[in-house]
Amino acid sequence: MATRKTSGKKKSSKPAKHGKSAARKVTAVKKISTKAGAAAGTNPQRVAAILAKLDEAYPSATCELKHENAFQLLISTILSAQCTDVRVNQVTQELYKKYAKPEAFAYANPAELEKEIRPTGFFRNKTKSVMGASKAIVEKFGGQVPRTMEELLMLPGVARKTANVVLGTAYGIATGIVVDTHVIRLSQRLDLTRNVDPKKIEQDLMAVIPQNKWIQFSHQLIWHGRRVCAARKPRCAECNLETLCYAPDKTV
Ligand code: SF4
Repeated sequence: MATRKTSGKKKSSKPAKHGKSAARKVTAVKKISTKAGAAAGTNPQRVAAILAKLDEAYPSATCELKHENAFQLLISTILSAQCTDVRVNQVTQELYKKYAKPEAFAYANPAELEKEIRPTGFFRNKTKSVMGASKAIVEKFGGQVPRTMEELLMLPGVARKTANVVLGTAYGIATGIVVDTHVIRLSQRLDLTRNVDPKKIEQDLMAVIPQNKWIQFSHQLIWHGRRVCAARKPRCAECNLETLCYAPDKTV
């Protein structure tokens, strides 16, 4: 997960030799500069311009995990942790033929399943999550993937990111914004957040992005992160957001 610093500014040092009034001034400047910084990145005109540019570049961005229903999307999303969508799609192509329903995963042979999903990494934990979530779906939710954040979070191995993927992509329900490694990096580079914690980043984004854009916005940021705004060496010369972006690690 990206944890890079979002600003090159040094922290204010303690004004030990300048008395209380100087200390008050420093505090005031710190407060003003923080507010001004946040406003600069998230003023409605700038956010609207960013959304328009994303629509222009990625009008049909969508989830790249192959799936035929909400259950398959849930399993694929669990498998995608620390793994590429391409690799997950390779694995699930055969997996979903063998395990066609939640019951098949719920009561699978764990050693066999571990072997089958091994290429996605962290296969022991993922096996526990896949089997645990499937069992809960079968035994508590009548075989159906739930449609609320609260219920999805009851499934083993499911946190907000996975729940947002399923709700948004499978059901078209905008409860929150998917915050993955690309969304973290790009939201910081585009100065839509100064936070590093995914939950806080999600709250920051939900505050400035219109709710009817939440689902598409995260798909578009993920696509942009994969295709142009890479973690190392972002291809800024090819980026249609370049005029709006003042990221410190821009390459143009
Ligand atoms: S200008 Fe560069 S850093 Fe900014 S969004 Fe585009 S690719 Fe990313």
